Amino acid sequence: MDDREYLPLSWLSQVCYCPRRAALLLNERLWSESTDTAKGRAEHENVHTQRVERRGDFIKLYEYTVFSDRLEINGKCDCIEAVRNENGCRIPVADFPVQLYPIEYKHGNVRDEDEYNIQLCAQAICLEEMFGTSITEGALFFISSHRRHEVKFDDALRRRTLECAQKLHSIRSALSVPAAEYSAKCRRCSLADLCMPKVKNSSKSYLQRLRDEAEGNIEEDTP
Ligand code: SF4
Repeated sequence: MDDREYLPLSWLSQVCYCPRRAALLLNERLWSESTDTAKGRAEHENVHTQRVERRGDFIKLYEYTVFSDRLEINGKCDCIEAVRNENGCRIPVADFPVQLYPIEYKHGNVRDEDEYNIQLCAQAICLEEMFGTSITEGALFFISSHRRHEVKFDDALRRRTLECAQKLHSIRSALSVPAAEYSAKCRRCSLADLCMPKVKNSSKSYLQRLRDEAEGNIEEDTP
C-alpha cells in the first residue's frame, strides 16, 4: 500500500518564506488572519471557479487539480493557458497538442518574491510530470495592478523548489517546529504574535505552560 503523504503545493511558499511558519501551520494548526491574508484570500476567491474557456486554438483552464509523485505534493493551478503547438502535449480538454503555461494569481502589486516563484515552478513540475511535457516559463498575475510578472523555470529555481518540498516533508515527518530566527519577514508575518520570534524558547515554554494552566489543560502538581 502507498502510504506517502502528499502535502499541499501552496505550502511550498510557506516553507520558503519561513520553515517555522510552515511548521506552525502544518504541525500545530495555527492560523491568524491579518489584513494581508484576508485581502489575498478575498481576491483569490474571486478567481477560484473551476472552468474551461476556449477561443479557437487557445484554451484557459481554471482551478485545475495537479500533483507530483516526485515532490509528493498536490494542489491546484489558478489558471493554465494551453496554446496549440505541434510539439506540445495532449491534455484531456483539447483535441490538438498544446504548450502549457501556468499562471498564479496574487493580490497586491507586482513584486518578485522567491516563495511565489517556487509555488509556480512546483505547478509547472506537476504539469510536466502529469502530461510528459516541458514547461520553461509561467507567470504571476498581480490582481491589484492587473499586471503579469513572467517567471523562467531555470535549473536554480527547480532546485530550490525541490529543496523546499524536501524541507516541508521533513518538517512534517519529524513533527518538528524549527526555532524562530527573527528577520524583516517577521514584521509581515501573520503568525508573529503566536510565534513570538524575539522571545527565547525557554521563555516560550514557560508562557505556554501558563496559558495551558489558565485554560485548565494541565492539572496542578499534587504533593
Ligand atoms: S514571526 Fe518570523 S520566525 Fe515566526 S513564523 Fe513568522 S516569519 Fe517565521
